[in-house]
Amino acid sequence: MSIPEHRAPAASGTDTFGGMWRELLPIGRHAPTGGYRRYAWTPADRDCRAWFQDQAEARGLNYETDRNGNQWAWLGDPAAGDAVVTGSHLDSVPDGGAFDGPLGVVSALAAVDELRARGADLRRPLGIVNFGDEEGARFGLACVGSRLTAGQLTAEQARGLRDADGTTLAQAMERAGHDPAAIGPDPERLARIGAFVELHVEQGRALDQTSHAVGVASAIWPHGRWRFDFHGEANHAGTTRLADRRDPMLGYAGTVLAAREQARVFGALATFGKVDVRPGGVNAIAAEVRGWLDSRAPDEETLATLVGAIEREAVEHASREGVEVRVTRESFTPVVEFAHGLRDRLAGLLGGAPILPTGAGHDAGILSAVLPTAMLFVRNPTGVSHSPHEHADEADCLAGVIALADVLEGLACR
Ligand SMILES: [Zn+2]
Repeated sequence: MSIPEHRAPAASGTDTFGGMWRELLPIGRHAPTGGYRRYAWTPADRDCRAWFQDQAEARGLNYETDRNGNQWAWLGDPAAGDAVVTGSHLDSVPDGGAFDGPLGVVSALAAVDELRARGADLRRPLGIVNFGDEEGARFGLACVGSRLTAGQLTAEQARGLRDADGTTLAQAMERAGHDPAAIGPDPERLARIGAFVELHVEQGRALDQTSHAVGVASAIWPHGRWRFDFHGEANHAGTTRLADRRDPMLGYAGTVLAAREQARVFGALATFGKVDVRPGGVNAIAAEVRGWLDSRAPDEETLATLVGAIEREAVEHASREGVEVRVTRESFTPVVEFAHGLRDRLAGLLGGAPILPTGAGHDAGILSAVLPTAMLFVRNPTGVSHSPHEHADEADCLAGVIALADVLEGLACR
């Protein structure tokens, strides 16, 4: 099918990228930190989603929200099957950067503009997706939208997820006008997709060491989240002798330092980035410290060994202080090897782009279990991500748009 024109003359993707980018920038931005707080099913998320729908409709794309709250924009009829889909997510981590997620969505829309400007002759339906709740910032589990769709999370598990205020995902969805009773696996939708390509800002500095603005992903390291609950005894900070204390903060602190050292030994990553202290008084010894470990490694065996070592250290540090510790695995994502054929084809379409692994999870990683899936990374000169300092140069973003358009043209037109 040839692509219907909605604007004449058709603006190229590199012309339209900047305008879209600037429109999205103020949404969900927390002025005091400069970071983004676009959490699933909040007003900021609603505004991002409205923006996506507007962009889809302005292009004459067929817009739909699926049962799991993912947004889709279609060029051509997806019922024809073997569709090529691209996209990413618009939600953020707490005080996240502007690029993680939105770069893939804005680039996808710009790539459609680019293909129109080229007069590309699409032989397969082309879809753009904005996956819901990718970061898991509010309900603690990443990639909820894609996991539900792919059947990697049951509807019941999803509905019962709770945010820090005790609101369940089901309640949050309902308040945002989405029916939580309808969520669940969507094999019919996935069966119509022949390939999924997610463009994403790089979350490391591998491309910065090369002359390439765009790279292709080889694999995603296995990763998971573990909750460490240290139980001690609340008491007065001014009257309790040091020898009489059962201070869970000490067990936690020892575990944090041990995790860092073990990660170094294993050539892997371990991070305690979130902690909850009860009762949380400055003049009180804590009764309970709850810390969350995020850990990632090149392979699953290394990850299991590393987390086992950190658990043993936690038990040792806790028992030294008369404190009990319980460890709960909250999530785990196995290693993802992206489809080699598709990966190599993309690298070829991009004239020999470098192929790199990543430690970060993505919707593309979830979908790779059920679909041929690939990722493109856009150079990030500092490697900083999940922070307001996350950055990619505009020239590299535009190179990403062109690369994505080349890839989509290669996959959908021949
Ligand atoms: Zn992301």
